[in-house]
Amino acid sequence: MRNCVVCGKALEITVTRDGSYRGGNYFGIIRSGIGDYGVAELKNGELIRTISWIRYFWYTLRDFKRLLLKQYEELEYWECDDCCNDDV
Ligand SMILES: [Zn+2]
Repeated sequence: MRNCVVCGKALEITVTRDGSYRGGNYFGIIRSGIGDYGVAELKNGELIRTISWIRYFWYTLRDFKRLLLKQYEELEYWECDDCCNDDV
């Protein structure tokens, strides 16, 4: 059973004989806990750094350690048709 990552709706994925699927949109594997911090945001067309360098450095080391020790969960990223269409 898959759920839409955005709205949480349960998805019924049907895989057709040629290997394509219906009922959801698959965007690949995401690693939970890796890179889950906001580094910068766009303000008036300018990219503003939102965390200090020390913090950024700390997060980078933390992610590196997590990747090294495989301390993350691999999740399949699915969106339902509604959420997927909203983005377009
Ligand atoms: Zn959704």
